Amino acid sequence: MLQDQDRIFTNIYGMHDRTLAGARKRGHWDGTDKLIQMGRDDIVKIMKDSGLRGRGGAGFPTGLKWSFMPKESDGRPHYLVVNADESEPGTCKDREIMRHDPHTLIEGCLIASFAMGAHASYIYIRGEYIREREALQAAIDEAYEAGLLGKNAAGSGWDFDLYLTHGAGAYICGEETALIESLEGKKGMPRMKPPFPAGAGLYGCPTTVNNVESIAVVPTILRRGAEWFAQFGRPNNAGTKLFAISGHVNQPCVVEEAMSISFEELIDKHCGGIRGGWDNLKAVIPGGSSVPCVRGENMRDAIMDFDYLRGELGSGLGTAAVIVMDQSTDIIKAIWRLAKFYKHESCGQCTPCREGTGWMMRVMDRLVRGEAEVEEIDMLFDVTKQVEGHTICALGDAAAWPIQGLIRNFRDEIEDRIKAQKTGRVSAALAAE
Ligand code: SF4
Repeated sequence: MLQDQDRIFTNIYGMHDRTLAGARKRGHWDGTDKLIQMGRDDIVKIMKDSGLRGRGGAGFPTGLKWSFMPKESDGRPHYLVVNADESEPGTCKDREIMRHDPHTLIEGCLIASFAMGAHASYIYIRGEYIREREALQAAIDEAYEAGLLGKNAAGSGWDFDLYLTHGAGAYICGEETALIESLEGKKGMPRMKPPFPAGAGLYGCPTTVNNVESIAVVPTILRRGAEWFAQFGRPNNAGTKLFAISGHVNQPCVVEEAMSISFEELIDKHCGGIRGGWDNLKAVIPGGSSVPCVRGENMRDAIMDFDYLRGELGSGLGTAAVIVMDQSTDIIKAIWRLAKFYKHESCGQCTPCREGTGWMMRVMDRLVRGEAEVEEIDMLFDVTKQVEGHTICALGDAAAWPIQGLIRNFRDEIEDRIKAQKTGRVSAALAAE
């Protein structure tokens, strides 16, 4: 279990002072100018050596992403954009940083922007996070007043401005190019890639989009060193990580833990166990609603990191939003609800996603009631394969994967329901709806 002295987020539960004075007492903004004076190349190298992989879901190495930014400006400004849209169902970790420990993020924005040659950074926060926005804006104002932002930020010699802007509640604005479009004041629709944002992003200028947690951990990694961060987790899965555990556990929570912790330890140590005991566990979605669900018996010994969940269980760590479901869950209905969500959030500009999400949801509508033929299960699986990988952005995959997970892991349950419907033996619970 992660020791308290190794926690990056020391005020994640809001028990202490979140103002600048409190943040300083906890070690933030300490010698920020010295960190910046290490120089761009060294900072990027430390981030690469630390093994940090993006905390927004895709798990792309952060240092490598930064190195894609041009070394010299061709006259266009560079930008860092922080993705604080956090709209993936089940995910609620970045909000804890923004409302309780905002200075970790603000200091991270300054250092990361310097490392990418950016004099300005934008944080794009989801519209529903009103209190988080207020807390973060108050912290930004404090930082300006203290000379930590603005001209010669934190006495580093680097001029830096930080802006907070909010969306209006569209899930798709969490996709990096849709987010950029929205920031520019347009409809939040993903762009075709290439060009990638590092070549032409915000206002056509070199841009890096990073998740809140990825940026907020940067100052501590630089202070404590790449080796310190890399010691947690298995190789290629380094660091500490915020896990957001919801659903049928005794105490749902957000907790910072070492990567590669076992699922059992995570749940028993921090969540008081599964509701009704381990035998009552039915299914887990380990990384936010877009990753495939896993059967409970396969999760108990699972290692919570990118490579294990993907390689061994065909799922993913995603945002580490762990959704736990016990035996009382109607898993078909749970996945139907996700299908409805993705259909609603599709921006509609590419056909497989626009038509496919609606088609999949309508079949799921019938599967929930058992009003389908058994052969339709394979047909539905085929359709998910035609959507997956054939769209402009990852929403197509996000809509396909939960259904694939359902069919792979709970096919027996779908078939039973169809048969029960045909023989008039639909469960009392379903019949009552
Ligand atoms: Fe829009 Fe869906 Fe295409 Fe993404 S995959 S661009 S959400 S239609």
